[in-house]
Amino acid sequence: MKYALVTGGSRGIGKAISLELSRAGYAILINYVSNKEAALETKSMIEQQGGIAELMPFDVTDKHAVDEAIEQWVATHSDDFIAVLVNNAGIREDALMIFMQDEKWDKVINTNLNSCFYVTRRVLKYMLSKRFGRIINVVSLSGLKGLPGQTNYSAAKAGVIGVTKALAQEVGARKITVNAVAPGFIDTDMTKDLDEKSLKTMIPIGRFGTPEEVAAVVEFLASDKAGYITGEVISINGGLYT
Ligand code: NAP
Repeated sequence: MKYALVTGGSRGIGKAISLELSRAGYAILINYVSNKEAALETKSMIEQQGGIAELMPFDVTDKHAVDEAIEQWVATHSDDFIAVLVNNAGIREDALMIFMQDEKWDKVINTNLNSCFYVTRRVLKYMLSKRFGRIINVVSLSGLKGLPGQTNYSAAKAGVIGVTKALAQEVGARKITVNAVAPGFIDTDMTKDLDEKSLKTMIPIGRFGTPEEVAAVVEFLASDKAGYITGEVISINGGLYT
């Protein structure tokens, strides 16, 4: 059985990706850190559409917890393989740099950037031996353009773009592709404190995007059709930045 591991798969963009990859035929490993209720709801939605899903809770910032969860899963799934990894878990904690406390800087770098290293290196080991894999990193417009008030988040997402481009070159010969999607403003819990009415006037398409619009691109990048695309960053932002 081919599995897709979606970090932060319980809510928002990760939930839509989990549902879409399930429709594409993958069994889904739904990672989350604290919201078990949301993870169970996503699991049951996958099962209702005829798919298979398992919960895989761990904190992506805790390298020991990441190793333990993945190694434990591998030990009990000798016939299965994590063919797709979506590094989606993320947070934002905005502040102008002049007011940025160490805690906000470290938390955002750990959750959005270091997590990508901790999870990818563990899953990559098995992809390299299977000589196949699809790694898709969820970055952001902030990581391409930089956004004021988000030096921590912009740095983390730009860092993941660097990982994407470098790793794509390391593992291409083993038929492992590594790409990123860069959403603009997407309607999820992460953006519910933003002033959508005024922000959408800046977006050429005139609205926030939906998690499903991001999931559709991730599903394409995971598919056989995208086998010759690697090291790319695809923007999904309504024309806000191209
Ligand atoms: P969201 O609705 O706030 O969901 C965040 C998800 O990440 C939840 O599943 C959460 O798990 C999980 N998570 C957070 N910290 C974690 C940790 N330490 N360990 C494991 N899981 C953790 O966010 P979203 O809007 O869907 O964002 C998903 C990704 O898209 C993020 O990387 C974000 O930076 C990126 N993005 C979002 C937007 C946007 O406009 N929404 C734009 C550009 C990029 P729990 O349910 O357990 O809390």
